[in-house]
Amino acid sequence: SVPLTFFGGIGGASRRGILIKGANYMDVLAKVRTVVFDKTGTLTHGKFAVTAVHPDAIDDHQLLHLAAHVEHFSTHPIGAALRDAFPDEATDGCEVSDVREMAGQGIIAKVGDREVAVGNTKLMDAIGAKWHDCHHTGTIIHVAINGTYAGHIVINDQIKADSAEAIAALHTLGVNRTVMLTGDRQEVADNVAKQLGLTEYHAELMPADKVSKVEELSTVNYQQATPLAFVGDGINDAPVLARADIGIAMGGLGSDAAIEAADVVLMDDKPSKIATAIGIARRTLAIAR
Ligand code: ADP
Ligand code: MG
Repeated sequence: SVPLTFFGGIGGASRRGILIKGANYMDVLAKVRTVVFDKTGTLTHGKFAVTAVHPDAIDDHQLLHLAAHVEHFSTHPIGAALRDAFPDEATDGCEVSDVREMAGQGIIAKVGDREVAVGNTKLMDAIGAKWHDCHHTGTIIHVAINGTYAGHIVINDQIKADSAEAIAALHTLGVNRTVMLTGDRQEVADNVAKQLGLTEYHAELMPADKVSKVEELSTVNYQQATPLAFVGDGINDAPVLARADIGIAMGGLGSDAAIEAADVVLMDDKPSKIATAIGIARRTLAIAR
């Protein structure tokens, strides 16, 4: 049976915007020594601004216009950013059809009678488009029309104000392994990791690579019987949320699927609430014993 104080702990957590879906997660939270983070929407806001446009053979406006159309139905933060760069695209009469979202790579869709691919270098390689980039800092989104390279758009996200503090608080609690997994470019990951003081990070991962990384990290933990937590927004990382010993989702920006798949939901999207939750769990357990 579950000690009554566990329910007190759950109530205390919920008053601080931390939804814990069962008393058994108190025990898991208290023992966590590894926290793995997704980058976009978790450690960063997931709100990208367009900072440069480098078209090949078409103009800036046309390149953004096509990208915005392809992203019309996307729930990815990158999709939202490219749509926002072109707020009137929905009413201009261009038909979007045959949308294929490729997790961890981008999207391909028909815009009118042209097939347009929007995504990273993996997507360009997959369709055989010869890409190049402009060595800008930031996330680079490449575009191809009918398989021919058409240029790229540079977008930039911002680290959340409390991310660095969140990592430091975890280290203070003895959570000695803080890991970031991302599908974004190595350069972007280097920059974020350096600013946050993470103990480890891996970039340019496909969604399946994130699952195997978490499995690899868990194997090490099993020998010491310390559980692993994964924190994400559910966009392309729902399988990892489900695989972790404890899945923590961002409740504000996070997808419904993530909130469903997670064991703990942070209502205000603040990564610093992870240390708060671990602290509450440890105090609750100390009282229960
Ligand atoms: P993250 O680890 O940053 O959460 P994702 O797995 O969601 O990454 O995406 C990895 C990469 O795939 C992005 O950085 C981007 O290059 C590409 N990508 C994913 N979704 C889209 C999209 N809707 N439009 C364009 N590119 C995308
Ligand atoms: Mg993600």
